[in-house]
Amino acid sequence: METKAAVTFGSGEPFEIKHITIDEPQTNEVLIRLVGTGICHTDILAQTQAYPVPLPAVLGHEGAGIVEKVGNGISHIQPGDHVVLSYSSCGSCDNCLTGKAYACERFYELNFEGRMADRSTRLHVEGQDASNFFGQSSFAYYAVANARNVIKVPKDVPLEMLGPLGCGVQTGSGAVLNKLKPEPGTSIVVFGAGTVGLSAIMAAIVCHCGIIIAVDVQENRLELAKELGATHTINAREGNVLEAIMKIAEKGVNYAIESSGRPENSRNAVDSLTVTGRAVQVAGGPIGSEVTLDINTILFERNYEGFLMGEGVPQIYIPRLIELYKQGKFPFDKLITYYSFEDVNKAVEDAHKGTTIKPILKFS
Ligand SMILES: [Zn+2]
Ligand SMILES: [Zn+2]
Repeated sequence: METKAAVTFGSGEPFEIKHITIDEPQTNEVLIRLVGTGICHTDILAQTQAYPVPLPAVLGHEGAGIVEKVGNGISHIQPGDHVVLSYSSCGSCDNCLTGKAYACERFYELNFEGRMADRSTRLHVEGQDASNFFGQSSFAYYAVANARNVIKVPKDVPLEMLGPLGCGVQTGSGAVLNKLKPEPGTSIVVFGAGTVGLSAIMAAIVCHCGIIIAVDVQENRLELAKELGATHTINAREGNVLEAIMKIAEKGVNYAIESSGRPENSRNAVDSLTVTGRAVQVAGGPIGSEVTLDINTILFERNYEGFLMGEGVPQIYIPRLIELYKQGKFPFDKLITYYSFEDVNKAVEDAHKGTTIKPILKFS
């Protein structure tokens, strides 16, 4: 069928709204009519080719929409279902089989190499194949996704706001709720107060953390962190961040989350820990980004861990986040600014400036 998409043709070039052809869903695939899609930093890393997704490509990996059609082999998803789209995984490697699809052995291939699981694409633009992204390509009015990416969600919450649960919100909150599981009263510092960092802060409040410190360079984001429940904020432009953390938590913090992708923050995250503390790296950077650590800091039981995509089972975890939202305990709607799909480049620009935290494109 014909549909409209925001296509990336060249490295760093603005998105172009184009008519594209989208194929029928194949076995174990689902056709979705999108209602909203978040824009995530990872889309921009692909647009600028810091992650070299083959071009042309239809990016977008925080889609929310309504199932239009299902391919063969699917019984648990039906036309009319409200769904959120998340990352792609193979379903048959050791990690997928043990509920850790976020660590799928084919993760990079299925999400960044531009092809579906059978190595073909469903998208075509101006006579050539276009790369699929994260097994969904949600910067389009319609998307074909693997059934494994599709999470059924309740119909009593506004569907257009749910897309970011598939990536940024799931990632930040999952670092706390699924990985660190902080005990009530413990201290935590979060570097970067974008969608991922602010989701971690909301999750820290769900877990009844004591001291919750947000570090960022933008006052508007730090203000929002406070509004969401951070007990302290540090503007990294105003002096030494590590000293500022140690002034608040004398022995160091129990937990640290690094969501900015800046190597100096990774170092600060580890150095700010108390003995036995745990720091989690949740943001990526350009391929080849390096961080240096003092061996002795690590030796003395301070831990620096990697983390991907929420470390939960999205089909179980995302509905739980929606339940917390409905109870007023996880107000992630405060992060969102809506744009019309056609204003995708303006939305990216505002996110880049930091005036918008989580842009969501709405489809008319
Ligand atoms: Zn993302
Ligand atoms: Zn797998």
